[in-house]
Formats: sequence, structure tokens, C-alpha cells
Amino acid sequence: MTNWHDRTNPTPGIDPESTRWQRQEMIRHQLQARAITDPEVLHAMTIIPRELFVPREYAEQAYADGPIPIGEGQTISQPYMVAVMAQLLGTDHSRTLLEIGTGSGYGAAILSRLAKRVISLERIPSLLDQARQRWRHLGLDNIDGLLGDGTLGCPEQAPFDGICVTAAAPRIPIPLLQQLKPISGRLVVPVGPRFAQILQCIQLDNEGNSVVTSLFDCVFVPLIGHHGWMPGGRSA
Ligand code: SAM
Repeated sequence: MTNWHDRTNPTPGIDPESTRWQRQEMIRHQLQARAITDPEVLHAMTIIPRELFVPREYAEQAYADGPIPIGEGQTISQPYMVAVMAQLLGTDHSRTLLEIGTGSGYGAAILSRLAKRVISLERIPSLLDQARQRWRHLGLDNIDGLLGDGTLGCPEQAPFDGICVTAAAPRIPIPLLQQLKPISGRLVVPVGPRFAQILQCIQLDNEGNSVVTSLFDCVFVPLIGHHGWMPGGRSA
């Protein structure tokens, strides 16, 4: 098996030379300039080729400082947002992480370099299929992509060392709190009204109470499901 901590990255498809300078520019101008300092996060974002996770017609914009459409009305998140979430979750490689909202599969690919195992839940089958193909192509074999309503989490695999939600929740989904490891675990989720959220990081104290840190304003596509929004746009 590939040793991901080996900085030479011998696996084909990882860190392709033709776009390496674009990743280095992204790291410098979008991430380091905005206080992304964790070397493991920066390394993961240096080696994963983001152009493979966007539709062909957007390949030239793959390293732009913003979200990009991926079809089905969804987006691949801004690189900075992916990095912030990864940095908040931490980089202990023994962890199992849960991602809600696979989308293109890029976020899970980054997390897979920072954890032992990543479970990623997506509600749209075609997006999940494409993400799985991308992970396979890159040899990222520690990601399990599952189809379903991520607002319910994945109780059979819980508790998780970290959970990130890459879609906007009207309120913190209770099942995700219940599936988070107390004290050390972190849940990162954008919470708020449909077009304006605040990124929140939640930990559980020894009595199981949530300790919420509100970070900054953001706008994500809606989290649609039992503990999210209804497909029409009303809070479920
Ligand atoms: N992490 C993604 C990436 O790297 O491309 C970005 C995901 S996009 C901003 C949000 C995704 O959340 C969409 O693909 C959407 O279909 C998905 N989503 C929305 N509600 C969901 C739910 N209840 N369960 C699982 N996925 C959901």
C-alpha cells in the first residue's frame, strides 16, 4: 500500500506535474494567506489534483478561489473552505471521519490523506458514482462513499472522531451530535438561514453538552434531509 506520508508520492495521478504550480499558487495565495498553517493539510492540498474533480469544461478554473458547479445544482466547495474544515478537524491519522455531502469527492479525497478512514455520504446517486470513480482512479482506497440522507449520519459506524457537513443546515442535526466522540471529536457545520450561514465547530464536554464555536459567515448549498431542509426549501 502507498505510504501517504512519503513526500515523493509515487502513485500515478497524484500530484501531476502539469498542474503542480497551480496547486502551489493556490496554497500560497488562498490558504497560507488566510491562516491555513497545518503542514499536513497544506500537503494534502498540494498533492490532490483538483482539476479531476470538476467537469471538463471547468478544468481551467479548477484552482479558482471559489466554488464551481458540478452538475445537479451542486458545487465543489471553495478550496479555502475545504482547508478550513480539514484544519478544524485535525490531522491525527488514526481517526475515522464522516463527511456529509460527497459532491465531487474532492473534500473526502483531502480528508483521506489526513485520517485512517473516511465515510462520505451523498444523497444524489450520479454525484456519488462519479466521486467513487475519481477516488478509484487516484488509488484512494480508504474512502467509503455511501448513498443516503446524511442528516441521519451513519449510526452503524459511529462514534466518529470528526464530522464535517459540506451543505448548509438550518440547525445542528441532532443525530450527528449523537455520533460524535465526546471531548476530542469535532463537528464542523455551516448553520443558519438558506442564504447566509455561520460556520460552527462543535465539541461535546464530559457531560455531553455541546460547546459551540462560531467562526465566520459563509454560504453553502442546502443540506436536504430529515434534519435539514425539505427539497422545496422549507426547514424539515
Ligand atoms: N464536499 C463536496 C466536494 O468536495 O465537492 C462539496 C459538496 S456540495 C457543496 C454539498 C453536497 O451535499 C451536494 O453534493 C449535495 O447533494 C449534498 N447533500 C445535501 N444534502 C445532503 C444530505 N442530506 N445527505 C447527503 N448529502 C447531501
